[in-house]
Amino acid sequence: MQRPDPLSSQPFPLSRTKLELFLRCPRCFFLDRRFGIAPPSGPPFTLNSAVDALLKKEFDAFRIRGEPHPLMKNCSIDAVPFRHPSIEEWRNVRRGIRALHEDSNFLFFGAIDDLWINPEGSLHIVDYKATSFDGEVLLEGPWKDGYKRQLEMYQWLFRKNGFAVSPIGYFVYVNADRNRASFEGSLHFTMSILPHRGDDSWVDDALRETRLCLEREQLPLANSECEVCAYRKAANDTELMMRPSSLNGVVSRSQPRLTKPNGGEGGI
Ligand code: SF4
Repeated sequence: MQRPDPLSSQPFPLSRTKLELFLRCPRCFFLDRRFGIAPPSGPPFTLNSAVDALLKKEFDAFRIRGEPHPLMKNCSIDAVPFRHPSIEEWRNVRRGIRALHEDSNFLFFGAIDDLWINPEGSLHIVDYKATSFDGEVLLEGPWKDGYKRQLEMYQWLFRKNGFAVSPIGYFVYVNADRNRASFEGSLHFTMSILPHRGDDSWVDDALRETRLCLEREQLPLANSECEVCAYRKAANDTELMMRPSSLNGVVSRSQPRLTKPNGGEGGI
């Protein structure tokens, strides 16, 4: 499939994960969206996906009945899973919920896990998370800041689509117990709901800054704390240092094998 042209006058599709990529590292975002050089993807999180799929089915059963899930009742949440004909589209990572941000000309989109509706008719954005952690799960730490931004981006998208959205969103957390005597073919989870009061006021500015980054003529700064770029730089520096000057950048079959400092042989 042809990549959309980021510099065309047509609205440019931008997923919430790519906005998050920009926030984490403008350089990686620029290489990815402007030139199609995406960061290497890791193996898929298939266990997390399985948990997501099962939670969706579980909450869907209560959605059909118009009743709260027992966990919502235990947490005194006065809401029920939201019934809407577009719920599956909003959950689809290839479609999601979309809104045109006119200032940046981005067609911004993201796929939700769930939506709950309260008696006042406001929506709560809900995201499912699976983890395995000793102790109480809290919403603190750099990764969790990313989770909160994720929820706030969805709040922004639903507001842009004309929905009344509560500032309170929820994370449904399932935490696998790793202290059982043995596995016996199953994981045992504790479920909890963590509320987050979101503030989506940063999203407009972030989209405008992302557009400026996309249209730059020079490479943006890299994230100085990124281990991958530190590795890339160290590897590049070492390769340049070790390259025989006569090869001038050309790797040939006749290149002598390198000798390790301890006298053993090794390749590059
Ligand atoms: S610092 Fe380098 S590797 Fe890391 S995210 Fe940025 S461009 Fe990518």
